[in-house]
Amino acid sequence: MTIFEKVLEIYQEYYICLHCLGRMFSLLGTDTTNYDRGKSLLLAMTMENHRVYLSRHENHDQAIVILKILAEKARFNPALSVLEREGIEYSKRNLPEKCYLCNDIFSDVPTYAKIALKSLNNLEFKNFLVGTALNSQIVNKEDNFKAHFNLLDSESFKNHFNREVGKELSLILQKPSEFTNPDITVIYTLGFTSSEVNLVIRSTFVKGRYNKFIRGIPQTHWDCRACRGKGCELCNFSGKQYKTSVEELISPEFIKEAIAEGSKFHGAGREDIDVKMLGKGRPFVLELKNPKVRTIDLEKLQKRVNKRNKNKVKITDLAYSSKEQVKNLKFNAENTKKVYRALTSSLENISKEKFETLLNELKITFENQKIQQRTPNRVSHRRADKIREKKIFQIEGKFIKPKVFEFIVEAQGGTYIKEIINGDNGRTKPSFTEIFGFPIECKKLDVLKIY
Ligand SMILES: [Zn+2]
Ligand SMILES: [Zn+2]
Repeated sequence: MTIFEKVLEIYQEYYICLHCLGRMFSLLGTDTTNYDRGKSLLLAMTMENHRVYLSRHENHDQAIVILKILAEKARFNPALSVLEREGIEYSKRNLPEKCYLCNDIFSDVPTYAKIALKSLNNLEFKNFLVGTALNSQIVNKEDNFKAHFNLLDSESFKNHFNREVGKELSLILQKPSEFTNPDITVIYTLGFTSSEVNLVIRSTFVKGRYNKFIRGIPQTHWDCRACRGKGCELCNFSGKQYKTSVEELISPEFIKEAIAEGSKFHGAGREDIDVKMLGKGRPFVLELKNPKVRTIDLEKLQKRVNKRNKNKVKITDLAYSSKEQVKNLKFNAENTKKVYRALTSSLENISKEKFETLLNELKITFENQKIQQRTPNRVSHRRADKIREKKIFQIEGKFIKPKVFEFIVEAQGGTYIKEIINGDNGRTKPSFTEIFGFPIECKKLDVLKIY
């Protein structure tokens, strides 16, 4: 069966628009549009049958029948004109019938583009993508039609709609479509007589490093343990376990500047609430959700955040980042080296000489060795109970007073430093307490460096 015979078969049963006709043969012939495919098919058929008609050939009657189908059923104007010029009678159907497959949606692409334009107002974006969710009525009709006529070279309703509306929007907005990582995805929920537009706005990611100069605040917001964030008497109806956090000190300025709906703070690991983050700081990525503005003056913002949080937190090295870098951040946190300073106190009085001997033993035991850490008691309510193997690289020590020592510990990310010191009742092995032979407690801990 030729394409032309198939077209006649279709129009004998249904009226479909030129977009949909071309779409049914979309895999045939490239570098053209479905509309041009459809129109070319009908025009070629009109011309061929006009030729046969004029030749007074034996197929003369058959040509008239075909021209009539093209005029009456396909409502193709050139075929209508031929019939009129040759004085052949045909029935003029006045009833405006809509395309069986698309209900004339494809003839109304600019209207659909306009609906999206309204919601794109006031948004900053470089590129976009159109996506469609079709209702089942459209999908079923389409599937049955293609099966009935055995149409194997067609393009889907969705693809056609996405591309055509995308082209229209691209032209109006003067912005390109982007398929892999669009700033905005315009999603149409489409039925034959209904449509709705929703936007998916890609988050903006800003990376940097932060310092925490005070003790007593967590890295990120914690829900109140009693009410789980709902607000209760214990938390003064704030829903928070701690008054503030590094996240809460940093993110509001970003949210304001990007006119975002919210944010998520991703840290490369985290220090305990009572631990300072010194040196060059800890890498983080701030994810800004549903931002209306994507280009923000990072330098200005850094200054503003730092001024507001003087002596509390500080951010540096701000730059734009991506979702991939968030994943790397989490992954690398476990594998980077970290340097800690621990101020400790011991239960027993020891001399400086004794301390030097014990320090030497610590070095022999720990340096470039692996330790076994079972999840500490203090965090076991929120982390799986298992044994982690962590590497310790270097230990330095300083005798301050008979019961007070300072240690510098260089260890693999994720090592529980307080527990290497106190031994956590044998859950961390070996430990400073074990080597010294009497209990040693970490009193103050600072992170000095994250590689
Ligand atoms: Zn159509
Ligand atoms: Zn509460």
